[in-house]
Amino acid sequence: MQQARFLTDQRLINTTDYLSAAERYRGLLLCPLCGEKAWFIKAVNSDSINRAACFGAHHQHGCEAATLRLNAEDDVNPSHKADTVREPSTRYAPAGLWQSIKAPQLGGSDGYDVNSALRQLLSHLCRNADFAAQGQKLQLLAASGRELMAGKLADYVVHVNDISDKHLEALYIFWGRINNVNEREFDNPEDDELWLNIGDYRKEPSVFIDADLRRSLVKRFNLADLDALSGADFILLGHAGKSAHGKFTLHIAMSKYIAFRLYGIG
Ligand SMILES: [Zn+2]
Repeated sequence: MQQARFLTDQRLINTTDYLSAAERYRGLLLCPLCGEKAWFIKAVNSDSINRAACFGAHHQHGCEAATLRLNAEDDVNPSHKADTVREPSTRYAPAGLWQSIKAPQLGGSDGYDVNSALRQLLSHLCRNADFAAQGQKLQLLAASGRELMAGKLADYVVHVNDISDKHLEALYIFWGRINNVNEREFDNPEDDELWLNIGDYRKEPSVFIDADLRRSLVKRFNLADLDALSGADFILLGHAGKSAHGKFTLHIAMSKYIAFRLYGIG
């Protein structure tokens, strides 16, 4: 769509407005017709694609503002390299993994690939947000064998809209949808920050990725353009922190602890 509604003053803005003040508008845009969160999509001019800048949204069914079709890229997986060869049988965890009564072992040398397991859990949650509420058990072991999580899956899976102070101290599986991506560059590139924002970066939760993790993330998911994460579903195994302003920030220790469901423009 060519226009989006700016939450702060309900004004309609176009892509030129956005480009003139991206910092002001990022994370604060809605589809003018269905009210779903919107984000900016930059123009692409290549040999194969010519697309003007526009706004994307996961529109409600039948919304007439939809001009782009977003298709879940269900086969988006980490770039397969040597580890595919090393662990061919663990790349894809079986469908029943998260429903297993026997505690599955994730991340250990004899366990499932934790990234594939997260990706699979995300697929289930996107189809059914209450997926984890079926009494499934979960056990997660670190490579050292130390138990990181054990118990009911439902006690560990937290949607970003449901994060509260009780989630601050321990490890959880957080999931939700990224609205916009903000890359902040500093004089020293090692200080660069990548923020995956759920919406309004001042109030709504964000995933924080430092420069090291960002490099690892780009490689693992073959991300030529980080903007591809706008509108994507995500899941991560990590910790939540809270700023003095009451904003929650999610942190991961390694790129294998986050997975995405990207949407291609169809
Ligand atoms: Zn809409």
